[in-house]
Amino acid sequence: MNIDNKKVVSFHYTLKNDQGEEIESSREQENPMIYLHGAGNIIPGLEKAMEGKVAGDKFEVTVEPAEAYGERNEGAIQRVPAKHFGEGRRLKPGQSVVLNTQQGPRRVTVLKVGRFNIDVDANHPLAGQSLTFNVEVTDVRDATEEEVSHGHVHGPGGVEH
Ligand code: ZN
Repeated sequence: MNIDNKKVVSFHYTLKNDQGEEIESSREQENPMIYLHGAGNIIPGLEKAMEGKVAGDKFEVTVEPAEAYGERNEGAIQRVPAKHFGEGRRLKPGQSVVLNTQQGPRRVTVLKVGRFNIDVDANHPLAGQSLTFNVEVTDVRDATEEEVSHGHVHGPGGVEH
């Protein structure tokens, strides 16, 4: 069965950044990743590379930032009053925290901790990076009608509801 829209795909992957450093791997977890193909559940560049593959296929693909987590936006670096963080004083540069913004909660990376203000970066940590995925497709099945209408996978590894 080839990967196409309305297929549920399970796969193992190892992700490296453009310095060749391993960032994450599903192989450290018991279960592979699972997603509904054609529903934008995974980054566009990886979804495209999956097209037509079958269970057992192994491949490597490098995805440019535009097809991954986007380019870095320097405007996403902001100075925020420390009081917005509550326990701001104990923050450390490099730490990842959730900040309540007018657009809702947003994960940011702390850049600099000052006495009254904290500089944060709201870019995705992988923005601006070319990502190399080493992939092994482990299973491909038809999605149920319910999964297709919800736009995600149900059951183990998917959404339970
Ligand atoms: Zn659902």
